[in-house]
Amino acid sequence: MNLVVAIDDLHPEQGWGCEGDVQVDYLKSLNDEFGVKFTLFCPSYYHHKYKLTKDWVSYWKQFDWVELANHGHYHDVKKYPKDQIGEQEFLELNHIEATERVQDSLDLWEQCGHKPKGFRAPGWGITQEAADVVSSYFDWVAQHEVHNQSINFGTKHFVGCDGINKSDNISLYGETFMFQSHIQGDWNDNVWNEKNYLHFQQVVKYLLSQYNGLQFKTISEIK
Ligand SMILES: [Zn+2]
Repeated sequence: MNLVVAIDDLHPEQGWGCEGDVQVDYLKSLNDEFGVKFTLFCPSYYHHKYKLTKDWVSYWKQFDWVELANHGHYHDVKKYPKDQIGEQEFLELNHIEATERVQDSLDLWEQCGHKPKGFRAPGWGITQEAADVVSSYFDWVAQHEVHNQSINFGTKHFVGCDGINKSDNISLYGETFMFQSHIQGDWNDNVWNEKNYLHFQQVVKYLLSQYNGLQFKTISEIK
C-alpha cells in the first residue's frame, strides 16, 4: 500500500514554498515524524512574475523525499477571460502553442538543473492537442478522473485527489492513497495551514495504524 502527497503551485515567492516558510516546516516535520514524501507541482514562471531559480530548485533537490514535477509555465491564461476558465493554462492551447509552452518551461527547468518527469495541468483542464504534447514530453501525467474524462493521455497517468483536509471517504486508487493539496492560496481549502497540518498528521497516524507496511512514495516511485 502506498501513500502519495501532491502539492500544487510552489514557486520562488515567500510563503509559496521557500526555505523558512512555515508551510515548508510542516512538510519537513511530517517527513521527520513519519517519512512522508511529497511530489511538488511547480509552475516555472508563475503569473509572468516568479521564474524558477537555480537556488530554489537546488534547495528542494537536496531532499530525497521530494520530487519536483511540472505544473505548466505561467499558470495563467491569455486568450480567454480568467473569470471564465480560471488559470487553466492548457485549456486554451493548440498543438503548436502547447509545444512552445512546454518547451519554454522545460528550458527554464534545465537552466535550473532539473528535468521533471511528471506533469499536471494548472486547474486540471487541458485540450486534447495539448494533452498529446505533454504526453510526448513527460513520463506521467496526474489527471482528474472527472475533469479530464474525455481526454486521452498517451503516457502513464494517475488519478486521485483527496484533500489533506478530508476526514472520510478517502479513496484507494489501486494500491495508492493520493492526497492533494496547495501550498497556499485563499481560493482552496486544502492549503498547508496549521489546521490542515495538524489534521493531516492525524490522518497519517490513523492510516499507519490500519495498514501494515504502508509506504510513502513520490508519484514517480509508484510502480
Ligand atoms: Zn495550480
